[in-house]
Amino acid sequence: MNKKDYYEILGVSKTASQDEIKSAFRKLAKKYHPDVSKEENAAEKFKEAQEAYAVLSDEEKRRKYDQFGHSAFTNAQGGFSGFDGFDFGSMSDIFDDILGGMGFGFSSSRSKSSNARRGDDILEHMNLTFEEAVFGCKKDLKVTLEDTCSECNGKGGFDETTCSQCHGSGTITSEQRTIFGSFLTRTTCPECQGKGKTYAKKCSNCRGIGRIKTTKTIEVNIPAGIDDGNRLRLAQKGEAGINGGRNGDLYIEFSVKDHEIYQREDDDIYLDLPITIPEAVLGCKKEIPTLYGKVDLTIPAGTQSNSKLKLRSKGVANVNTSKKGDMYVTIKVQIPTKLTKEEKKAFENLNNVMKEDNSFLNKIRKFLRD
Ligand SMILES: [Zn+2]
Ligand SMILES: [Zn+2]
Repeated sequence: MNKKDYYEILGVSKTASQDEIKSAFRKLAKKYHPDVSKEENAAEKFKEAQEAYAVLSDEEKRRKYDQFGHSAFTNAQGGFSGFDGFDFGSMSDIFDDILGGMGFGFSSSRSKSSNARRGDDILEHMNLTFEEAVFGCKKDLKVTLEDTCSECNGKGGFDETTCSQCHGSGTITSEQRTIFGSFLTRTTCPECQGKGKTYAKKCSNCRGIGRIKTTKTIEVNIPAGIDDGNRLRLAQKGEAGINGGRNGDLYIEFSVKDHEIYQREDDDIYLDLPITIPEAVLGCKKEIPTLYGKVDLTIPAGTQSNSKLKLRSKGVANVNTSKKGDMYVTIKVQIPTKLTKEEKKAFENLNNVMKEDNSFLNKIRKFLRD
């Protein structure tokens, strides 16, 4: 047998205290644990350290080892028989340190269950009128989701006791045999499914799951400025988490109905304003209905059809910044299709007056000669 000395493996002296041995093993385990280590031959080195620690941390075994060396633990089949009876449980606090500290999410009995799972997010749709979206409102929303069971408060049962199999940790430390040898791994406790607790009486309402499909109505505060297709996130209003996990989020996607006279583009509002030809030519004043009441708008003489006049800050308040957009009034000069006698006369007179004055016609006249 050409086995390495246990003291050498752990890098401690023959007179090392239990604290020194534990600390040395902790360091090695952290370095070589196969779940986390990137070192070469990590599994082999880990097994070696584990074996050395199993012996040296046990005063009785250490004494035998000091006296007889490796032969103290070699039986007829060879190999390391002394290791077989080793209680892995006493090592588990070290593994909590190593694996938990490395962000593996393994838990000790005091922290959240290792089996905690976040609830799912859910998406609901909601229809809003133009005004509800622009000014904000409160609205009731009926949702059906997996909600925390109100009977057992999500625990799944009554008369709580600490799980006898995992002693409340929610995980089981067990030996895993590989071609490199055996090492310790951690798995979710099958007895309590990682809860760390068991219940003398199962909750009949949720059948022990801790959550149950529920239809409920929630009041939603809809902020001013919502636009068609916007999503609102209500944190943790989604499905209930499992085993102490966080709730999911509730998203509400809005459909906003069109307005009779306004068009909306982001935070700007557009309004078509029909005016007559004389109004466009001579200019006029018009009363404009804005989101915030009536406003007098002066349309200057000679305003062309489709030109836009801006009413500053009469648009929608931005949903995030509350800064108001603008309103644009699009002038639509109406060409009458039906004229009274009087109107026709007036247009004919106008036509006679304007004929000689048409600069564009003068410009194209030379092209009109055959
Ligand atoms: Zn358990
Ligand atoms: Zn329940």
